[in-house]
Amino acid sequence: MATLRVKGGTVVTLGEASRVLPEHDVICRDDRVEAIRPTREVQGAFDRTVEASGRVVMPGFINAHMHFYSTFARGLGKAQPARDFDQVLRHLWWRLDKALTLEDCYYSALVPLIQAVRAGTTTLIDHHASPRAVRGSLARVAEAVDQTGVRACLCYEVSDRDGGGVAREGIEENAAWIEEVQRRGNPRLAGMFGLHASFTVGDETLDLAVAEARRLGAGFHLHVAEGPVDQRHALAFHERRVVDRLEKAGVLGPRTLLAHCIDVTPAEMETLARTRTAVVHNPQSNLNNAVGMADVAGMQDRGVLVGLGTDGMTVRMGQEVRTALFVRHLREGNPSAGFLETVALLLRHNAQIASRCFDVPVGVLAPGFAADLAVLDYCPPTPLDDDSFPGHFVFGLAEAEVVTTICGGRVLMEDRRLLLDLDEAEVAAKARECAAALWRRF
Ligand SMILES: [Zn+2]
Repeated sequence: MATLRVKGGTVVTLGEASRVLPEHDVICRDDRVEAIRPTREVQGAFDRTVEASGRVVMPGFINAHMHFYSTFARGLGKAQPARDFDQVLRHLWWRLDKALTLEDCYYSALVPLIQAVRAGTTTLIDHHASPRAVRGSLARVAEAVDQTGVRACLCYEVSDRDGGGVAREGIEENAAWIEEVQRRGNPRLAGMFGLHASFTVGDETLDLAVAEARRLGAGFHLHVAEGPVDQRHALAFHERRVVDRLEKAGVLGPRTLLAHCIDVTPAEMETLARTRTAVVHNPQSNLNNAVGMADVAGMQDRGVLVGLGTDGMTVRMGQEVRTALFVRHLREGNPSAGFLETVALLLRHNAQIASRCFDVPVGVLAPGFAADLAVLDYCPPTPLDDDSFPGHFVFGLAEAEVVTTICGGRVLMEDRRLLLDLDEAEVAAKARECAAALWRRF
C-alpha cells in the first residue's frame, strides 16, 4: 500500500457536484483517490508528498479521440494538396499509415505520450492504423503507454481499403489486444474494437468484426459521417444512412464511441441517444479538414453523450475546448451559446466516456476514483469559486502551465521535471530518424 499526499492546492473536484476547495489536500492510496481534506486537518505520515500550494489541482485531462501515429505527418511536404476530405485521406493519411513499421508505431506514440504528460492529459483513447504492420502494432503502442505511465484505450482501425487480408489481420489484432488487456488486468490499459469508417468496411468484414467484439464484450471506436463520402456511400451501397447501417449491424451501444458525426440527421441523433452510443466532437480537426461542424447542441438536446477529442491535432485539451466554444458561438451567431454545455464536453462527458472504457472510474477527484491529477500553475486574478470556475477554466486554466502530473497514483512529472525512465531528446532523435525513413518510403 503506497500513500501520496498532494498538499495545499485549490482542488477542483469536477463530477456531478463539482467544488472548488481552496487549501485542500488530495490523499491517494495506491492507484485511487482516498479522500479530499482541508490541509490543516491532515495528519500522519505519507510515503510521498507533492507540494501544490498556490496552484490548482484538477483531475487529469481526457482525450476521447486520438491518433498517435499522426505525429509523423508533422512537416511532411510530399502529399499532394487536397481539395476535399476524400483527398485528405487518399493523398495523406492512407499513404502515411501504409508506410508505418512496428518501430514507427512505437516512436510516433511515444512522442505525443510524453507531450501528454507535460500537458496533464492522463487518459487517451487512441485509434491506430498501420496496414503493412498490423500484427503486434497495438502491443508496440502499449509499450509506449506503459513507459510514459498514462492511461490509454487502444484499438486497430479495421478497413477493407487495403484488401480482405489486411481487414482480417485488423480484426485479429483487435481481438488479440482485447484478450491481452483482459489477461494483463492493468487498470491503465484498455481495448476497444476499432473500425475505420462505414464507407471502407464492407458487410462481410463488419459482420465478422461484430461477432468478434460480441465474443469479447467490447465496444467499437470508429469515424462516422466525418465527410460527405460516408453517407453517400452508405446510401448507395447499403440503402440506408450510416447510423442506421451501424445499428442494424449491432455496432451501437453504450460501449461504442463514434468520432465526428458531422453529417447526421435528427433521426440518426435519436438513434444515438436511444442506444446510449457516445459521440466525440473534434473541432480543430474538422476546421483543418474543412468538413463542417457537428451539431453538438442538437445532439445534446436529444440526450446524446458527446465528449471531446483532438483527432491527433494536439494533446492539450484546453486548446480543444476553447476551439469547441468559439466555433459554437460562430455557428450559432450567438456569443453566449452553450458555454457550460461546451465546457462539459471535456470536463464531465469525457469522464463518463472514459469510465465506460476502463475498469476504474476516472475524471473526478473523489474517493474511489483513479488517482489521476494535473497540478496547474495558476494564480487567479479574479475570485475563483464554484460559480466562476468555468470562466476561469476557458479563459485562464486552459492556457495555464501544467507543472505536475500524476496517473494511477504515480508521479510522472513534478515541478516540470519528467520522472520517466526516458530521455526526451533521445526519443525525439530516434523519432526523427524513423520519420525521415518513412518520408522516403511515402
Ligand atoms: Zn480520427
